[in-house]
Formats: sequence, structure tokens, C-alpha cells
Amino acid sequence: MNTKILLDNKSIDRLIIDLSTELEKAGILKDDRLRFRLSLEEMLLDYQSTFGNKCQVLVRTARKADKLEIRLTLEGEEYNPLKESESLVLIKTLHGWKSAPTYQYEDGTVGKNILIFRFAVRGSLKENLIFTWKYTQASKKYLFLAVLLQLISVVFMIIGPVLSARIIVELTDVAIYQVICTAFALFVVNIASSVIMAGCNWAYNVVYNKTLTLLEADISESVLKIENKEMEDNGTGLFIQRLTVDTSNLATAFNTLADNISQICQYVGILAAMIIVSPIVFIAVVLLLSVQIALELRRQKVSKDNGRVYRNYAERYTGIVGEMVRGVKDIKLLNAEGQFERELKERIVGANDSRMKWDAVNRSYRLVISVIREGGALAFIAILAGLLSVEKLNVATALVLFNYYSKLGTPATVLLGTILDFVTQFNLSCERLRDITDDNVFPKEKFGSIHNTNLNGEIEFKKVSFSYNIGKLKTSTRWVLQNLSFTIKPGETVALVGRSGSGKTTIMNLISRLYDPFSGMISIDGINIQDFDRESLRGCISVVTQSPYIFQMSIRDNLRIVNQALTEEEMKRAAALACIDEEIESKPEKYDTIVGEGGISLSGGQRQRLAIARALLRDCKILLLDEATSALDNVTQDNIRKSLDRIKGKCTVIIIAHRLSTIVGADRILYLQDGQILAEGTHDELINSCAQYRELYEKEDKK
Ligand code: ADP
Repeated sequence: MNTKILLDNKSIDRLIIDLSTELEKAGILKDDRLRFRLSLEEMLLDYQSTFGNKCQVLVRTARKADKLEIRLTLEGEEYNPLKESESLVLIKTLHGWKSAPTYQYEDGTVGKNILIFRFAVRGSLKENLIFTWKYTQASKKYLFLAVLLQLISVVFMIIGPVLSARIIVELTDVAIYQVICTAFALFVVNIASSVIMAGCNWAYNVVYNKTLTLLEADISESVLKIENKEMEDNGTGLFIQRLTVDTSNLATAFNTLADNISQICQYVGILAAMIIVSPIVFIAVVLLLSVQIALELRRQKVSKDNGRVYRNYAERYTGIVGEMVRGVKDIKLLNAEGQFERELKERIVGANDSRMKWDAVNRSYRLVISVIREGGALAFIAILAGLLSVEKLNVATALVLFNYYSKLGTPATVLLGTILDFVTQFNLSCERLRDITDDNVFPKEKFGSIHNTNLNGEIEFKKVSFSYNIGKLKTSTRWVLQNLSFTIKPGETVALVGRSGSGKTTIMNLISRLYDPFSGMISIDGINIQDFDRESLRGCISVVTQSPYIFQMSIRDNLRIVNQALTEEEMKRAAALACIDEEIESKPEKYDTIVGEGGISLSGGQRQRLAIARALLRDCKILLLDEATSALDNVTQDNIRKSLDRIKGKCTVIIIAHRLSTIVGADRILYLQDGQILAEGTHDELINSCAQYRELYEKEDKK
């Protein structure tokens, strides 16, 4: 892009949209694109208020293989928005940003303010090949075999055209015996070549299968390790799309490329044969093909950019489809089909429009390429005619060359186009899959190295502060917990009470490290929980939430998920403790009953009890119950409380329950307000000392 704009609001908006699209096409990450938009808008508005909206900005973008530079030039007095702007948005956006713009002032008759953004462009073919290479290691010997067979086949593919050329010459000389001998030799060569190619394709297929298996397993594993907040921020659509569509696109691209390489070898063979027959014609053909190849390469680059934009739209579409399928019941009950359909349509239109644009650009390039190709064929015949007229060629050789060109000219460039389309597909899918494994793009949970599976379960919060939106650009920071400190002794049962939104669930999320505190420290048995390895930390904590996830498998398998060696007796005992045994036994398939996705075929209360049984089977030192019995009637809830009483003292229990009657027996109650402990003590103590607690209790009592 190389353009000049005025600094009025409309032009600024237009420019920001255009440049953002440019960044999206170059594969710049979402966070960088957002920072770019915010910072550019602030800076341009700053310039607008300093120099007025009639002032002009020269915008220049330059893209190289590995970087994209955007340069904005404003003529006028020196004004550096990076230093002088008072915009909080700008300060927040620039803070800690690797691609933050730089400013320089060029003195002259007219001074120039220059702002430069530099972005690293990711996803070159080389990087993508290196990434895929990692997964090819397990099938190295097959890859070696495939390449070796391919090289051998090249020799045959050179001999083939040379022999067919000879047949044409011998036919024109009416040398019958030689024609028969050469034809037989050609037959043998072609059969051998086919056998070798079959072997080569088989070897590639093994490589592709093994590679894909490793890649898919690694991507799935990486998704499970991604930090919880990243998953929440990006939504499920992105991950589903990459795990399913991108892995399968990568596989198709890989396979098609392997298949077509043999074809390419054949064209290399024809070219080699051409050198032998006529070096001049060979040079002419190379020149003619170069123009077409250069255009194809250009098409591929543009196609990759547009493909990126399309895939981003496709992810948004998959996201809403996922939500629609999961929330279909609620959508119907809310009578919100219309609203959802509108949203869905908008995203479908967005995705389809961007695909149409992608196709349209491809089509235009293809049209130009085909015109050039036909022009090339015409030029080739003219060259042959010219060489014949000056007797640099005889008729037989001209026929041979014409035969070569008809095999090479059109099919080779068409094939090249197809191959480049698959290279684009390979690149796009590969860069999206690489992102999943890349810690900078999707940070993974990090654990320490302390291994201890014999913890007592003492929990301590030391001056812990936490916010869900810290470091995010859109919103101001809202502290959910502030300087929170408390200790829970091993075996103690502590209840967290407080109004909705006071930070109770957040405390549980922090203990199990779904999030990490902004400051302060959380420890178990005196050790910072960030120093434990995954096994020690997650292995010692069992969590039951208000709406636990029950998987689409049998009840038995849902329980076995936490203990592969689960015996029938253990399973039934846990179900009995969770007061769900009788209901399971009354089902025709008993423990083999398959529950629907997310436990849809169970009632809310049954899901909660199954989750409690699952948690009890884990036999952990810390049990976190977050409204775990909220969907149960009082009698069942009381029975579960009695079951939990049996483990009292054996493990540390933290309970959140809005129904205060379920927690009156806790050893201690912490009353939370705005992320801080307002009061603590037993039920009787708080009734006397904490008005807020008393009010909650009395209101419940009157219900
Ligand atoms: P409680 O359990 O006491 O009802 P929470 O700990 O769930 O409260 O929530 C405390 C605050 O944090 C609320 O204002 C809530 O809106 C906010 N919050 C909770 N979870 C998230 C999240 N995943 N992302 C952003 N904000 C959240």
C-alpha cells in the first residue's frame, strides 16, 4: 500500500480497517492486530487535534518474507505521540508490546514526523517444513526410501522421452526394426518406472500416516495444556477448527504434494530430454515457462493472504455453531432462534464473502496465466518455424520438440498451479497448527518441579491479589481478590460464604491453578503451589462444581476416568456415598448406561451426585465443593452431608454453598465481601459478630 489520506475521522476509520486487513492477511496475531488498531487510532486522533483534519498522512506498507513494515509520514512540527500523548489507552496498548511503533523526526525545509510499525511475519514455507519435519522423524527410513525411489524414477523419466523421441525419428526414417526395438525398450522403461512410482507412493503414504498420527496427538495434547484463560478468551471454535479442519487439510495437502511430485519428475525428465535434443529450444522453453511460473508464484502469495482471512472467518463460524449445538435447548427455551439465526447468518455471510473474494482473485490470476500460456504455445511454434526456416532444425527433431512441448507446456503449468494451491493449504494449516504448539501464541500451563504425592493439605493464601482482566486491553483492571490472606489447616472443613460475585469460586480456581494470582502466594503444606509438578498439585485436589461435565460415555467409564483400575466394589461404594447408587441400579443398563453429551440424559442433581462420586473415588487430600449439591432436594443433600462427614478430618474440605444450612457444621466459615475476608469464625460466632452473615442466614430461614 502506498497512499495519502486526510486526517478526518472517516479517512482514519477507513485506513485503520484497510491496514488491519493487511495485517490479517500477513498472519499477524490477533493481539498484535488489536494493539495496532488501538494505538494507531489514538495517535492519528492526537495528530488530528494537533495539526487539524486537513493535514495529510503518507502511508506506506512494505512486506518482505519475514517482516511487515508500516510507515506513516506527517509533515509539520515535531510531535511524538509516543511521548507526548496523554491517552491512557495508548500507554496501556504500548506497554510490553514487542511490535510497538518507533518514532523519528526528519529535519528539512518541511519537517517530517515518521512513525514505523514493524511486525514479524510468521509462517514461511521453510518454518512450516521444519515444524512438520519433527513429526516425520519416526518414519525417516520410509522417507529416505521414498526419496530414493523418486530419484531413480527421474532417471527413467529422462530415458522415456528420449526413447519416444527416437521412435519419432526412426518412424520418419522408416527404420522399422529399430522402431520395434526402441518401442520394446520404452515399454520396459515405462513398466519399471510405474513399479518404482508405486513403491514410492506407498512409502510416502506410510510417512504421511505416521506423521499425521504424531501431529494430531501432539496438537490434542497441546490443547489440553493451554492456559485456561486463553481457552476462555479464544472460544472453542478456534480449537475445534484447527484440530479437525486444519489437521485434515494438512494431511490432504501433504498427500497430494507427495503424489504430484512424481508428475513433476516426469516434466523434469522431458526438460532434460529437450536439452539433449535442442539446447536452443530448451532455453526458449525455460524462458516461456518462467513467466508463467512467476505469475503462479505471485498468485500463490496473494491466495495465501486471502486464505488466512477466510480461515479466521471460518473459525468464528465454527465457534457459534459449537455454541448453538451445545446450547440448543436453552436457545429453544429462550425463544432466541431468530437472534441466533441472524448471528449465524452474519458469520456465514462473512465467511462466504471472504471465500468468494479468495476465489475471485484466484480466478483472475488463472485467466491471465492461461492467456500467457496460450501465447507461450504460439511463441513456441513460431520459434520452431523460425529454426526450421533457417535450417537449424530438421522436421523430425521439430516434431519431437513439438511433442515434448505439448506434454509439458500446458500440463506442467496447470500442475504447478495445483501444487502451489496445496502448498498454500499446507502453509495455512501448518501455521495455525504451529500456533497451537507455540507458547508465545497460546501460552501453556507451567508447573514446577517439586514432586510430592503425600501432602497433608494445609492451604495458605498470603496477600493474594487477582483480576481476570489484568493485562487485557479492552477493560480496566477490576480486582476480584485483594491482598487476601488466610490459612486452612489439614483436615479442616472451611466454608466460603458471601454475596454472589464476592470471589468464592475464584479462590477455588486459584487453588487448583486454573489461574495464577497477580501478586501474593498460595501454598500447600508451606510450598508455593506454582513449584509443584502437575501430578502433585492436580493429584491432591478434587473439585466438584455446580455444573460438572459428565462425558458422553457409560456411567462406569465416567467414574473410571479418574481411576483406571477401579473395582466394581469401589465404584458401587462411591456411588452409594454420593447417594446415586439406587438410581443407577434402577436403569436397565445400570452402570453401563451411556449418558448423553455433557450428561444431558441425567438430571442436574444426578450429574452433581455422579461428580461427587467421581471426586470421592480420587481420594484426594483437598476437596473443593463449589455449590456441588445446589440441585439436590434437602433430604438428599442431608444424606450427602452425612457421607461427607465420614471423611471429615481425613482431608481438607472447602465448601461454597448458598444454602447456609449445609455449611453450619463447618469448622470455620470465612465471610467474603469484594474479595476480602470481612469476618471468620464458626456459625454461632458469625451469627453474633457479622451482621451481613446474620442477614443472609435469617433471610434464608424465612424462606
Ligand atoms: P462468587 O463465586 O463469589 O459468586 P466469582 O469468584 O465467581 O464469585 O466471581 C468474582 C468476580 O469475578 C465476579 O465479578 C465475576 O463476574 C468475575 N469473574 C468470574 N469468572 C470470570 C471469568 N472467567 N472471566 C472474567 N471475570 C470473571
